[in-house]
Amino acid sequence: MNFRSLRDVDVRGKRVIVREDLNVPLKDGHLGDDTRIVAALQTLRWLRERDARTIVLAHLGRPDGKVVPQLSLRPIATELGVRLGGRVGFAGDCVGPVAEAAVAALHDGDTLLLENVRFHPEEEANDPVFARALAALGDLYVNDAFGTAHRAHASTEGIAAYVPAVAGFLMEAELTALGRLTNDPALPFVCAIGGAKVKDKVGVFSHLLQRVSAFVIGGGMANTFLAAAGIDVGTSLRDDDLSPAKAIIAQAKLKNIPLHVPSDAVVSTAFDADASAETVPISEIGARMILDIGPQTAAAYAAVLRDARTIVFNGPMGVYEKPAYQNGTRTVGEAIAEATRNGAVSVVGGGDAAAAAHELGFAAAMTHVSTGGGATLEFLEGKTLPGVAALERSAQEAGIR
Ligand code: ADP
Ligand code: MG
Repeated sequence: MNFRSLRDVDVRGKRVIVREDLNVPLKDGHLGDDTRIVAALQTLRWLRERDARTIVLAHLGRPDGKVVPQLSLRPIATELGVRLGGRVGFAGDCVGPVAEAAVAALHDGDTLLLENVRFHPEEEANDPVFARALAALGDLYVNDAFGTAHRAHASTEGIAAYVPAVAGFLMEAELTALGRLTNDPALPFVCAIGGAKVKDKVGVFSHLLQRVSAFVIGGGMANTFLAAAGIDVGTSLRDDDLSPAKAIIAQAKLKNIPLHVPSDAVVSTAFDADASAETVPISEIGARMILDIGPQTAAAYAAVLRDARTIVFNGPMGVYEKPAYQNGTRTVGEAIAEATRNGAVSVVGGGDAAAAAHELGFAAAMTHVSTGGGATLEFLEGKTLPGVAALERSAQEAGIR
C-alpha cells in the first residue's frame, strides 16, 4: 500500500489529529453496540502510551450541518475514557476558539474529543477553509476512520492536503485484509453473497466477476436471481427490475463462473409468521415468501466454501434477525470458519453480515470482519476510497519533499 502508517512517524509531544469512526447507536445518551469505539482503541491507546497529544475528530448521525444536541459526541468522550483507562477531554466545537483553547491546554499523553464535525455544513461540503482550520489544530493527521473513508469530507479527505497524513491501525488492518481479496487471491476464491437486493450490489458482482471462481447466492437477492431464471418466488422480497440479475447471469455464463442459487428454502406467509415456517423445494413456494435458504442449499454452499482458499461473505443468507431464519447464515458461516481453520483467507463485509457473524458466533473464526458498511461495499466494487487516496497523495508529497 502506498501510504504511511502511524508506525512510520514520531508522535511524542506532537499534536496528533485522529479521525475515528465513532458513529455508534446512541439513544438518550445511552450507548448501544460499541464495536466502533472498541475498534478505535488500538490507535488511541498507542498514541497515549507514546505521549502524543491526541485530538479526536468524529461524526455522529446526520445533523446536516446544524447543531443537534442529541447528536453531541460528549457522552462518547466518557465512554472512550472508561475504555482507555483515563480521562478523555471534550471540547464543544471542532474548530474556532473553543477547540483551539482545548488543544492548547493538552499535555503529553492527553486525549481530547472534539464535537461532532457534521455540526458544520462545511464538513460534508469538503470546504477547503474548514479543512485547513481542522488541520491547523495539529502537527500530524491520522485517518483511522475506515467506515467513513468512502466519503470525501473535510475531516476525511480535505484535511490531508494541509498536514502530513498517515493511516491509523484500524484503517491499515482493514485495507490489508480487504487487499488480500484483490491482490492475487489464492484460488478457488468464492463469494457468498446475500442481503436484501441485487440492486444494491450490482457493482460488487461486476467487480468480483473479474476475480472469483464462484458465487453462492442467498438472502432476498437470491429471490431476484430465481425470478430472473423464471422461477415463481411467490410473495418473496425481490427486485422489480430483473434486468441487472439477468445481465449478471449472462456475464457469469460467458466467463464460466458458477452462480449457485437455492434449490430449497425456508418459507412462511409473512415476515413475522415464524411459527409457521417450513422448508420446501424451490419449485413449491406458492403464495408464500422465502425467508432463508433451505438446508439442502446450505449444505451445498458449505461444500463449495469448504474447498475455497479465499472467501468474501457479504450479506446474510436469510432474515437472520429472527431465529427461525438463521440456519442458512449459520451453516455458511461455519463452513467459512472451517475453511479458515484450514488456511483460507476469509473476510466478512457489510453491516448486516458482520452483525450476523457476531450474533451467530463465527466472527472470531474469520480472518477479518470488516467494520465498514458502505466503505467495504465500495471497496468490493473496486472503487477508490477518497479517504485512502488522500493518504496516498500525502505519502507521495512527503516522498518528493
Ligand atoms: P449487508 O449489510 O451485509 O450488506 P444487506 O443490507 O444487503 O446486507 O441486507 C441485509 C438484510 O437483508 C437483513 O435485514 C435481512 O433480514 C434481509 N434479508 C435477508 N434475506 C432475506 C429474505 N429472504 N427476504 C427478505 N429480506 C431478507
Ligand atoms: Mg445492511
